[in-house]
Amino acid sequence: VFRRALRLDHMQSSSTMAATAAAARLRAQGHTVIDLGAGEPDFDTPENIRRAAIQALETGKTRYTPASGIAELKQAIVDYMARETGTTYPASAVIVSAGGKQTLFNALVSVVNPGDEVVIPAPYWVTFPEIVAFCGGVSVFIPTHEHDFRLTAAMVERVLTPRTKVVILNSPSNPSGAVIAPEDIHQIAELCAARDLWLISDECYYRFVYPPGRPFSAAALPAALRERVLVSGSLSKTYAMTGWRIGYALAHPDWVAEMTKVQSHSTSNPTTFAQWAAIEALRGSQDSVAAMLAEYRTRRDWIVPALAALPGVRCRMPEGAFYAFPDISAVLEKTGLRDVDFAQRLLEEAHVVVTAGSAFGAGGYLRISYANSLDNLQRGVENIRALIERLG
Ligand code: PLP
Repeated sequence: VFRRALRLDHMQSSSTMAATAAAARLRAQGHTVIDLGAGEPDFDTPENIRRAAIQALETGKTRYTPASGIAELKQAIVDYMARETGTTYPASAVIVSAGGKQTLFNALVSVVNPGDEVVIPAPYWVTFPEIVAFCGGVSVFIPTHEHDFRLTAAMVERVLTPRTKVVILNSPSNPSGAVIAPEDIHQIAELCAARDLWLISDECYYRFVYPPGRPFSAAALPAALRERVLVSGSLSKTYAMTGWRIGYALAHPDWVAEMTKVQSHSTSNPTTFAQWAAIEALRGSQDSVAAMLAEYRTRRDWIVPALAALPGVRCRMPEGAFYAFPDISAVLEKTGLRDVDFAQRLLEEAHVVVTAGSAFGAGGYLRISYANSLDNLQRGVENIRALIERLG
């Protein structure tokens, strides 16, 4: 009998991936499925990036590279961050990984000891607590949904204990789309510095902040605060490159050295030709990013009011990312269903995939990805309305 290792006892499989798998099953049975569950751009990778990959393949960029990534890509990341934030990191502060997910895994594995507490604002991206569990750490959640999804330093300070080691921020947030104000990020970083904590800022949706809002990266914090900050970036969403698996971290070189050690004994370098294409993504025309942001905005501006107009549903306007996060608690109260039951019935009865808020630590909500065509969004919302009406 196979017995899994103890360290996996508290790790759950990814619920967002489970929704994707359920959709695939229905499709295999011949059904048309509207997938508003996946956290994935519906756009193709821009052509200039695809061409750069083809060229890399044709010029022999097919061998191992240094485990932490090629120097040319690290420099492209440094230059990109300097353009975006005014901060120039040394190359020793950069590591390239197979997606932001590996970056965050390396980051947490390198710093969290068993029993250490990691502060995570809820609702949260499903993977954060699972990595913490793998490390033997303890996730300490700060509910923000009753504060309009706003996180402040005071809310963080209330949960700190002598065992706290790390605070994780994710702005814009998956699943809520909420953006933390720069002054709050600043104050949270000050608190981390004062209390000898490490701050991880997951900025994979950084470029998807809707005007008049503006993106803010923790890389722009003053140098003394930045010392304790790890910025996690990803090309997946920004450039519609989810399958390419390129993410990166900017952090204290000592932290990066430990992460490099982990990576060198697990996956080694991220895919070589994807790294070369990533240089084109960061250095080439950024028009496609602006075009995608404009398209997401049109969809957001349609779907959020449409959801908020459903009986018993409230939905705030997210400032970033590509998720609507409607509160359906009034519907659930009336019908006695849980959010997971609602999502399941929507899947079975209407073939619409959404993710229940409880997967993200916020029961009573649904996460709806609007990285999908307006046509599908309209059909999705109509099906949600029909289910609410059937439930009466
Ligand atoms: N962080 C957040 C908040 C995400 O939503 C995701 C992807 O869904 C990631 C990190 C990791 O993405 P990737 O590994 O594709 O870079």
